[in-house]
Amino acid sequence: MESYQLIIELNCTIKISVGKLGVYEFFKGFYVYTGSAKKNMESRIERHLQRSKKLHWHIDYLLTDINTNIIAVRRSLDSECKLNEKGKGKVLVPGFGSSDCVNKCVSHLKFTESYNHLSL
Ligand SMILES: [Zn+2]
Repeated sequence: MESYQLIIELNCTIKISVGKLGVYEFFKGFYVYTGSAKKNMESRIERHLQRSKKLHWHIDYLLTDINTNIIAVRRSLDSECKLNEKGKGKVLVPGFGSSDCVNKCVSHLKFTESYNHLSL
């Protein structure tokens, strides 16, 4: 496996800081976050599932909020940028999780209002 996607449900609209990116409003709905880990992808996923942790990645700022829940995890053989590109949804926070993308992705976090909009 090369990369993963976290399907995140947000129960209400929240306004939170995303580190150096600044403060953003995250609307109630569903988010798809695409990431990868060269080694130990499973332990990376495990880390995402833990609520309390030292904030390191952009996604940590969202996932440590009590109103978020990871409702599904997908694993893929595609590169994270390719996988991200295929995903539907709107970009709410430019630069989220994509600071070091060679592909210059706008964001590795995409938002959709309805779970039905996610191609499963
Ligand atoms: Zn990318």
